[in-house]
Amino acid sequence: GVTVRGLTKRFGTRTVLDGLDLDIAPGEFVALLGHSGSGKSTLLRVLAGLDREVEGEAHVDGTVSVAFQQPRLLPWRRVWRNIVLGLHKPDAGRDLALKALDEVRLADHADKWPRTLSGGEAQRVSLARALVREPDLLLLDEPFAALDALTRLAMHRLVRDLWRAHQPSVLLVTHDVDEALRLAQRLLVLSGGQIVSEYEPGPGVRQRILADLGVSENATA
Ligand code: ATP
Ligand code: MG
Repeated sequence: GVTVRGLTKRFGTRTVLDGLDLDIAPGEFVALLGHSGSGKSTLLRVLAGLDREVEGEAHVDGTVSVAFQQPRLLPWRRVWRNIVLGLHKPDAGRDLALKALDEVRLADHADKWPRTLSGGEAQRVSLARALVREPDLLLLDEPFAALDALTRLAMHRLVRDLWRAHQPSVLLVTHDVDEALRLAQRLLVLSGGQIVSEYEPGPGVRQRILADLGVSENATA
């Protein structure tokens, strides 16, 4: 689970997170919505322990994996090695990587170099790398953004299945309200450095979230 109390993050004079509170129960799947620049990735970085220059409390139980918005693959390691990097399972390493790659439908890309992957493929490798660690908390920063519609749906199913099988807490950042409604048990809206509203999927919720975000349905349709 996750416990955040009064989390404040400033970049210079700019306050990006402003006394933010957040709880995620063990095994809960939460989506985080918010405008570009609202601080979603910043919050994920703090939860991942990548940014400790903050005020307030951010506590995570157990291990954390992150799939970043921009996949960060080491260019001098082949795809499969990127997946198991740092896992300290030298014997099972390649098998584990192949299994994870198979789950994201990239088994035949195991021996490629990262620079030869498409954007969507790199995102899926990044997802496989996060999943292979079987974390207690999975942080997903727009992991499906660069995927075509069919692959995105396949990835939704995959993440749902893996979540059901392993029951990590998940915090999914997305701009896609429908994706959030399909996947998450609870939806949060980040604005002004705080969680300003939260919803459970249900009738009429989509409209209320879009209104929260100041999105006119006609403008996005
Ligand atoms: P997007 O949806 O576009 O990914 P986001 O909600 O993830 O946006 P963040 O990346 O968290 O937004 O950035 C929040 C704000 O903090 C932005 O205004 C960004 O410019 C600023 N910011 C992020 N990282 C830094 C940094 N290292 N130094 C200075 N400002 C930063
Ligand atoms: Mg971001």
